[in-house]
Amino acid sequence: MSDTADTLRRFIFEEEEIRGSIVRLDNTWQQLLTNEQYPQQVGQLLGEAAAATALLGCNLKFDGRLTLQIQGNEHLRLLVMQCDNELRLRGLARFGDEPLPDAFTELVDNGTLCVTVESGAKAERYQSIVPLSEINLAECLGLYYRQSVQLPSLFMLAANEQRATGLMLQVMPERKAGNGRWQQLMESLGGLDMMSMSALDDELLITALFPEDDIRLFDSEPVTFHCGCSDTHIENMLRVLGSEELVSLVADQNPVEICCEFCNRQYEVSAERIWGIVAELTGTTESSLH
Ligand SMILES: [Zn+2]
Repeated sequence: MSDTADTLRRFIFEEEEIRGSIVRLDNTWQQLLTNEQYPQQVGQLLGEAAAATALLGCNLKFDGRLTLQIQGNEHLRLLVMQCDNELRLRGLARFGDEPLPDAFTELVDNGTLCVTVESGAKAERYQSIVPLSEINLAECLGLYYRQSVQLPSLFMLAANEQRATGLMLQVMPERKAGNGRWQQLMESLGGLDMMSMSALDDELLITALFPEDDIRLFDSEPVTFHCGCSDTHIENMLRVLGSEELVSLVADQNPVEICCEFCNRQYEVSAERIWGIVAELTGTTESSLH
């Protein structure tokens, strides 16, 4: 079992224009959970989002990054999960006062799902938003891919305190005609318990799910937790706050202490550096600000 932990495995149907991937996150999932004590239903959704983001991230090109974001309301306020082209994940959720509702639709309360893909050195962005109108995240993602890119897609997602796991099937983008096997697969896979299926190794799982199909499994790829924050990122975040906010920050603290929301790493920015940023923002010289 350990050799399948924290890996993603892509596969294709040899005789159908369908591709897929399987992911199991164990240590990576534990690391994503260390920052915050999440209520059970928020933790479960964060885990499903982690699995989904890795499944989607496996199609990223060089230098790419995919961000899945749920903008909710009073219960689940925000959920962000990011994956880069090396399958490195980071993410967090913000939630309101407990107790929180258990049902997904009430938890996200008319929120929206947004997937952003950034790729290449020119930082091309592709973004689309759908309402969270379905009964769970997997169904919402299915709707998202049908609507935004017209790619029929199936997601099976599950998470508990130990593991986040998922499976994605997608009709290949080149495909034009209808697909009878796709319809059959949708019917046969509905209602399967992904968490218990994830206990099987990849070959057994594939055989159990698709006994009639000729499937080619690719090599497994490691998935890890990685934040990627740096002094430069923190300074960019400070620039977004604007000069007035920075002046009041530096009046209260020297050095200014900032904690990365994704990994809890502590950063200290000296008053001198803050004044330097204020000077850049206001177009003045540093000495005239003191
Ligand atoms: Zn960080």
